[in-house]
Amino acid sequence: MIASDLETAVTRLRELIDAAKVVVPFTGAGISTECGIPDFRSPGGIWTKNRPIPFDEFLSSQEARNEAWRRRFAMEEHFAAARPGRGHLALASLYKAGKSPGVVTQNIDNLHQGSGIAPAHVIELHGNNTYAVCLACAKRYELSWVKEQFAPRGQAPDCPDCGGHIKSATVSFGQSMPEHAMRRAEEMTLSSDLFVTVGSSLVVWPAAGFPLMAKRNGANLVIINREATEFDGIADLVVRGDIGTVLSPLIVH
Ligand code: NAD
Repeated sequence: MIASDLETAVTRLRELIDAAKVVVPFTGAGISTECGIPDFRSPGGIWTKNRPIPFDEFLSSQEARNEAWRRRFAMEEHFAAARPGRGHLALASLYKAGKSPGVVTQNIDNLHQGSGIAPAHVIELHGNNTYAVCLACAKRYELSWVKEQFAPRGQAPDCPDCGGHIKSATVSFGQSMPEHAMRRAEEMTLSSDLFVTVGSSLVVWPAAGFPLMAKRNGANLVIINREATEFDGIADLVVRGDIGTVLSPLIVH
């Protein structure tokens, strides 16, 4: 059902949440646009400016690694200044009320953690770009350290311990999905009787499989996004509106 107006949609959403035992939110870049972080596919989004660097290119080319870090530091102001928005705060309210066990997210911006959801309960399918890791030995590096190494010559550093390439702790196209996060996302999805996707175009796989998994498992499915998605037809409620506006009535102060 596509709600005809926003007020009806929010009322229906509230009814579904009240009736549910376990609400699992599934978020995408759209929840963070009001926080100043552009999404991928909207006009002005990241893809309209830069072609993504596939994982094999990152591995094989020093220039690709330099470019990846150049882009990351160019975005630093956006990421460092971003604070959780109304959508994040509303989902944190559900979590704090014991209505939701956490969140499954495609986002890499750390804003769910910033909104008060315990890091252990934020399932990051595509990693986190607020720190870096060595691809060979998995040692963690802080961005401040990477920046110090990168700044003088614009050269992406390798791991001083093992010589492996250092990459932001995100999952690039062509890189394998994090097994532990995938398993936990599946468990959380299957535990839900209400699955709410928020701000995702639902075109990136395998992440987009989770709403489908929830629906097939008998959960009600809600899709909140300002554009249509391919899954609207199977959703129990589709809310086409601005995420902050739709979710802010759920914020408990
Ligand atoms: P996407 O860019 O493909 O889709 C975002 C969707 O959100 C779009 O359909 C857009 O119409 C909608 N949207 C944007 N702002 C909205 C708003 N205020 N209200 C309602 N809808 C809004 O994003 P995706 O589905 O998450 O997939 C892209 C991939 O990009 C993800 O895997 C993620 O890892 C990565 N990414 C993450 C961030 C982040 O962490 N904030 C930002 C950009 C990209």
